[in-house]
Amino acid sequence: MTPPLNQAAYHSTFRAVSNALATTDPIVVAAAALRYVGESVDGFHQLSGATVDCRAGCSFCCWLRIDVRAHEVLLIARHLRAESRSAQLAPTRDRITQAAARVTNITYAQRHTVHQPCALLDHAGCCTVYDVRPAACRRYLSVSVDACEAIWQGEPPASEPENPAIAEPGRFAASGAHNAFLAAGYDGYSYDLMAALAEAMDDPECEARWRLKQPAFSEKSRSTVPDGFSQEEAVARLYAELTAASS
Ligand code: SF4
Ligand code: SF4
Repeated sequence: MTPPLNQAAYHSTFRAVSNALATTDPIVVAAAALRYVGESVDGFHQLSGATVDCRAGCSFCCWLRIDVRAHEVLLIARHLRAESRSAQLAPTRDRITQAAARVTNITYAQRHTVHQPCALLDHAGCCTVYDVRPAACRRYLSVSVDACEAIWQGEPPASEPENPAIAEPGRFAASGAHNAFLAAGYDGYSYDLMAALAEAMDDPECEARWRLKQPAFSEKSRSTVPDGFSQEEAVARLYAELTAASS
């Protein structure tokens, strides 16, 4: 049975984001929804009483594969275009393109062997898009930097990095935000951050397609999945469930 806090995290986030989508520009809602998820995670952290090791400049977690939804990618692309001078943007774009090339057209098993830093990380180990970082980055708080380092080195950690009292409700809150976009008809596919961001930076029509409630990015940018799993079927099934629940 799902613990009450997880259910509350999911439903309150889903409701808040759905209500906002009914009246407000969806890209504005996307930014607010991510802030909401981040603030919720901070609240779960306080409730848990756990001591987390996360600090600015600590970035083993920024080498992990990051799966995102279209609205998260579009927010980052907008941020990069708006905030970066062209001299800064060019090398960032190059890094994104190179990182995308390493994760495109490979299998699910091969994707797990790719070991590279996020192209949005700076030389000091800090996120250059912190204000618009995806939900996956906001909800990953670690109670053991040693465990993070072990995972980064490809070794089994001595203990789990995540505290379930923070990670679980955080996951539910993020799902509530993402599912509200899907329930409203927006792209619900899971994308590989680097692959989709490379597309978003190259093609301004990605956001236009998303606003028309079409898939924002091509199939090659979708997260790789195990054999026998279909994102199309999973997204269609989830959309049908959300629609049935709302009626
Ligand atoms: S999740 Fe781990 S690697 Fe990332 S900031 Fe926290 S302690 Fe550091
Ligand atoms: S988006 Fe920012 S926080 Fe997330 S993996 Fe990339 S650098 Fe790290």
